[in-house]
Amino acid sequence: LAHPTHQSRRDAIGSLLIDSKLDGLIVTALPNIRYLTGFTGSNAALLVTPKRSRLFTDPRYTIQAGQETGGSVTIARGPLWPAVMKQASKWGLRKIGFERRRISFQVYEALKEDLPLGAELNPVPGWIEEQRMTKSADEVEAIRRAVSTNSRAYTAVLSQIRPGLSESDVAAELEYQMRREGAEKPAFDTIVAAGPRSALPHARPTSNRLAANQLLLIDMGVTQEGYTSDMTRVVALGKPKTAWKKIYQAVLEAQLAAIATVREGVAAGAVDRAARQTLRGHELEKAFVHSTGHGLGLEIHEAPRIGKRDNTLLKEGMVITIEPGAYVEGTCGVRIEDTVLVTRTGCEVLTPTSKELTIL
Ligand code: ZN
Ligand code: ZN
Repeated sequence: LAHPTHQSRRDAIGSLLIDSKLDGLIVTALPNIRYLTGFTGSNAALLVTPKRSRLFTDPRYTIQAGQETGGSVTIARGPLWPAVMKQASKWGLRKIGFERRRISFQVYEALKEDLPLGAELNPVPGWIEEQRMTKSADEVEAIRRAVSTNSRAYTAVLSQIRPGLSESDVAAELEYQMRREGAEKPAFDTIVAAGPRSALPHARPTSNRLAANQLLLIDMGVTQEGYTSDMTRVVALGKPKTAWKKIYQAVLEAQLAAIATVREGVAAGAVDRAARQTLRGHELEKAFVHSTGHGLGLEIHEAPRIGKRDNTLLKEGMVITIEPGAYVEGTCGVRIEDTVLVTRTGCEVLTPTSKELTIL
């Protein structure tokens, strides 16, 4: 895997601009700005042309922008858009691209208002998101560290889980341990769902107390050095019912079947179909109500989507989740999720945590 610099990433965008006969691109999505410059602040815009680029932020980030980015920076007092357009005018840009999926109508209107005379705005698809699908060696290492932190936090909490604690108690303990283990923050709101609530794929932790003889679903991820991890495990409090164990084994079989399909050159949709076909064999296909996985990196959900209709060909260096599930209303839900690295000959499961049904 390559070791690109922020400059070489911007150069790749420069080539796309030339191919599309555009003079420049206004980057508005913060993860994309971080990817292209290293800047991690919460308010920024980036103007990229085939020859140069400039970051725009506000006075709160004067010192930070200088430390994090090697390039030129404009500190704007007030809204960034007039400053961006002033620069575009100074550089003589006429055909100016913007990230069509990453801009609000309000920002579009603001850009339009300050558009230099004779210039035009052109919507651009997810160029940077596409570039971000394939991770560099350094990015893979950062994701490895995030995955490892996540699993250590999970293991630290597992032995403390017992009836009487609430779902919220468990979520709070998990998020505390994440930070203790090196995370900056949870990558998303931690899901802890006990008993029949585990059948809600995106349940919020409640004050409900855990009880003996139920399943507990935990979906957790960390952000560390800007990069995310994502893992789901289901554990049993006391002896699980035979019906639950059957669902668990079916989902595990589906997860392993999907993982076995992952390899460079395989379509994302084929991985999804492998999971779905396995669950069909257990008459659980209708209980699998989401896609098999997603890319992750600077954001918890990135391209490619590992869904039925996604024809993206997997490539070495992509990092994706594999997370089939089955949800039976009134009974339980099971999802098993790992973060995996696509390689030329298959994949490497980065998540070290066991997938045997843990009985507490
Ligand atoms: Zn997850
Ligand atoms: Zn996920």
